This record gives sequence, structure tokens and C-alpha cells, in this order.
Amino acid sequence: MDCVRASAPQLQGLVPYDPKYLPAEAMLSANENPRDVEDSIREEIAREVAAVALNRYPDPLANDLRDLIAEANGLTREQVLIGNGGDELLFNIALAWGGAGRRMLNLPPTFSVYAANARLTGTEVVNIPRLEDFSIDEDAVLERLGAGDIDIVVITSPNNPTGECAREEFIQRVLEATDALVLVDEAYFEFARRSVLSYLAEHKNLIVLRTFSKAYSLAGVRMGYVMAHSDVIRELIKVRQPYSVDAVSQAIARVVFANRASFEARIDEIIAERGRVMEALAAIPGVKPYPSDANYILFAVEGADQAWAYLYDRGVLIRDFSSSAMLEGTLRASIGTPEQNDAFLAALEDFVSGK
Ligand code: PMP
Repeated sequence: MDCVRASAPQLQGLVPYDPKYLPAEAMLSANENPRDVEDSIREEIAREVAAVALNRYPDPLANDLRDLIAEANGLTREQVLIGNGGDELLFNIALAWGGAGRRMLNLPPTFSVYAANARLTGTEVVNIPRLEDFSIDEDAVLERLGAGDIDIVVITSPNNPTGECAREEFIQRVLEATDALVLVDEAYFEFARRSVLSYLAEHKNLIVLRTFSKAYSLAGVRMGYVMAHSDVIRELIKVRQPYSVDAVSQAIARVVFANRASFEARIDEIIAERGRVMEALAAIPGVKPYPSDANYILFAVEGADQAWAYLYDRGVLIRDFSSSAMLEGTLRASIGTPEQNDAFLAALEDFVSGK
């Protein structure tokens, strides 16, 4: 056969997720931690990895890691699920709570993966666009939930790419207003030092997503987790790929989680640098940064696409959202090391001043 029949209809016109990764001296496009895991922890990782039986399948549920995370958060193992990055868990949530005839409430502009997963699973997306300043249209969300036909609500806090946390009082009202599964994506919560995890005790419909990719410097390993009621976790276990979290990644994550206190100083550094970069951006004529509780800053600048190319020529890779819906004219820069942030700011200043 020199032809093949068409793939599933939901794939027609679907554009695969593209992180737009390019090599650069200052990689400030993917909200990673600019610093790799420190050497003493890497040595411990090497010892743990050396002890892994490579010929055996991994523990499907990564129970040792589940126990560590559960204990640290005052939960039981049954309330935690580990995934191959937060991304896998987002897909599992769409599989388990979405599907034909089901609806997801989304708050764009936000992380594009939610809508892509909805499309793949045949879930209808109900969009409540954010307001001009990218805050959530809280009244519109609560009113829409009143109809009682929403199955999943996604609240990203801090929101990617716009930067700010959702208000805790709002999340509480959402949890009370609906029996939909309320996903609070806290991929960046360590940089906000704020979480709604405590609401789990009273709200069976809350699921909190976290990742090792940002604060814990493990984007290369693919490790994320969710915390929810054990009945919710049980449903997610039905749809997950049994061996998606490999034994080597489990070993690495166990060591990093056990050593998480030693990441605090670098999280503090990123938070401090975020303040410095924010001030510097606000001082550049024609540049408008949006407030951020995360490890990145979204900003508007005249000629944003040219600014992106100018920065890239100067060795600074940031993320171009200038032609994305509701984000026209904006770029997003991750907070890097002080040196990388300086390179970014200097290049942007030169672009604006026409040097
Ligand atoms: N949620 C949000 C809001 C994100 O920005 C990301 C990473 N870009 C993820 C989840 C998933 O992260 P990971 O798969 O690396 O754990």
C-alpha cells in the first residue's frame, strides 16, 4: 500500500506541542531552573541509580516516592499519584474526567496543554477569557459553574504564561460552587510560596498538581505528582500507563525530594532575581511587565517578534507569544542566573534604544 487512511478525526489540523527550543547561551524560554542539581546530590543519585535493577520492571506506582511525598504533606500514599512529568498527569485527568459529552472550563490565556488534551479526548472546552490584566473573571466563572454541566475546571496558580496566582478565596468559592473536578495546577507554587493543598481535607473535588521540573531542577527527568482524595486517585490509576515512571527516574526523584531543603536557597535567589528583573523591565521605556508569582515574567514590548529575534541573535532565548491569541505583543522570559538575567536585560535595553 502506498497510502494510509486518515488518522482519527480529532487529529485533523492539530498542531503538536512545540516548546520552540533552540540552542542559546542563556536559555530563558522554558521556565526551567537555571542551576542543575548540585554535585553532592548528584553523587547520591549516582549511588541510588547504580543499585537499580535494570532488568526488572519498576514499581508501577512508585510507592516509595509516593510515601515520601505523602508524609511531607500530611497525606496518605493513596492520596498521591506520580506521573511521567506533570504533563502525563494532565493527560490522565483529561482521560478520566473528560471525554465525549463532557466539558472542561478553561481560563485562557493559559498553559496550552489543557486545551490540547481536551481536544484529543473529545472533551468540549468552555473558555472564560481572563480580564485585560490577566486576572480571572471570577464572577463569570462562578456564574458559568452554576449551570452544573462542567466536569473539569482548570485553575493554574501561578498561571503560565501570565504569572500571577489565583486568589485563594476564589478557589475556595469554586470548590464550593461545583462538584466538577477542580484541578489547581501548582507547577510553579514554590516560587509563590502559596498553595491551596490544605483545602483537600474538606473538598473531595480538589486535585493539586506539582512538578519536579521547576524548583527541583529535574525537567530532564520527567517527574510530576498530583494530590487528591483517594477516590480521585483510584480513577486516575485506571487510565494511566502502568510503567510510565521508570525505575531510574524514581530513584533520582527520591534523592532530590529527600534533599529538597537544600533547594530553598536557590528558590530564594530566583524570587529575589524576579524582583530585580521586574524593576529593571519596568524602567525600560515602552516595556510593560506583568506581575509574577512564578519563575518567569511576561512582558509587552513594541515590535515583540523583532525583539525576540534580536535577543536570540545576542544569545538569549526567551519565549515568543507575540502571535498567540490574547497574548499579542508579549514575550516571556524565565528567571535565570543573575548573569543570564543581566544578558537578557542588556539585550532588551539595546533593542529598545535601537542600538
Ligand atoms: N503545568 C504548567 C502550568 C506548566 O507550565 C508545565 C510545564 N511547562 C507543566 C504543568 C508540566 O510540567 P512537567 O511535565 O515538566 O512536569
